[in-house]
Amino acid sequence: MTDQLTYPDVVQLAVPFFIIAILIELVWIAVKGRGGRYETRDAVTSLIMGAGNVASGILLGFIAWGFFMVLWEITPLDLGSSWWVVLICFVLDDLRYYWVHRFGHRIRWVWASHVNHHSSQHYNLTTALRQTWTGTFTFMMVVRAPLILVGFHPAMVLFCGGLNLIYQFWIHTEAINKFPRWVEAVMNTPSHHRAHHGRNARYLDCNYAGVLIIWDKMFGTFVPEQDDDKVDYGLVHNLGTFNPLRIAFHEWVGIYRDMTQRGLTLRERLMYALAPPGWSHDGSRKSSEELKQAHLQRHPEDKGSAGFS
Ligand SMILES: [Zn+2]
Ligand SMILES: [Zn+2]
Repeated sequence: MTDQLTYPDVVQLAVPFFIIAILIELVWIAVKGRGGRYETRDAVTSLIMGAGNVASGILLGFIAWGFFMVLWEITPLDLGSSWWVVLICFVLDDLRYYWVHRFGHRIRWVWASHVNHHSSQHYNLTTALRQTWTGTFTFMMVVRAPLILVGFHPAMVLFCGGLNLIYQFWIHTEAINKFPRWVEAVMNTPSHHRAHHGRNARYLDCNYAGVLIIWDKMFGTFVPEQDDDKVDYGLVHNLGTFNPLRIAFHEWVGIYRDMTQRGLTLRERLMYALAPPGWSHDGSRKSSEELKQAHLQRHPEDKGSAGFS
């Protein structure tokens, strides 16, 4: 068994490049007078959320790592460390990311962790760093289990996950419009990910991809950015706060409040944690499907167009 396999912490190594890229984007926007918008408080909040994500990784990362090493002890399979194994691992881990991200939007328990990434009403490179502090508590590390059990070393799986995260950094920009068709067809791009950050009914729950957009096309969640439906960034119900603690924990508090209401059945209490965001026992809130339906009632001409089919 290749127990001693180690890879560099690529995300940590990339931090100086993140900072340089943010400065370049800032200058670009200032010089061109277009291609994005920065609001100081928003950008600072995003940077604090990024730092908190690193801190939570240092504090809680051992939980996922311990779980992965137990799986590695159990499995008799070991695919080794050749370059093609790393390549296959990267592609399969990108599929893993797609599903974790999709669960992150469709299961409120997981959304409670992911919501902060969508809490900015701006879209620039700092938005990419607005990452969760509570990922460990979603238990989404289990989605990596099959990769390790079929013989990809945990260090390789985490290395590929790090590369995936780095790829996703640069697509958080309005400075790049669209790439040639073949690039947009295969890769996740700024255009596809802008749509993912949209609160317009059309763009709710689309484009979960990390690196390859093909997963969204395969699983029916792809919606291209429309020139005539400009992306409105943020949450269906925007938070209206720059307080990092509120951003990090508000949805967990919301779940707790909803689950502990008086007079609910056990099923209703569980649904407040496990149903898609917007589910309510009395129908007083709207899910993304209902928001899409409400949009179609106002704009019947959109029926059958991207995001409404
Ligand atoms: Zn998302
Ligand atoms: Zn994003």
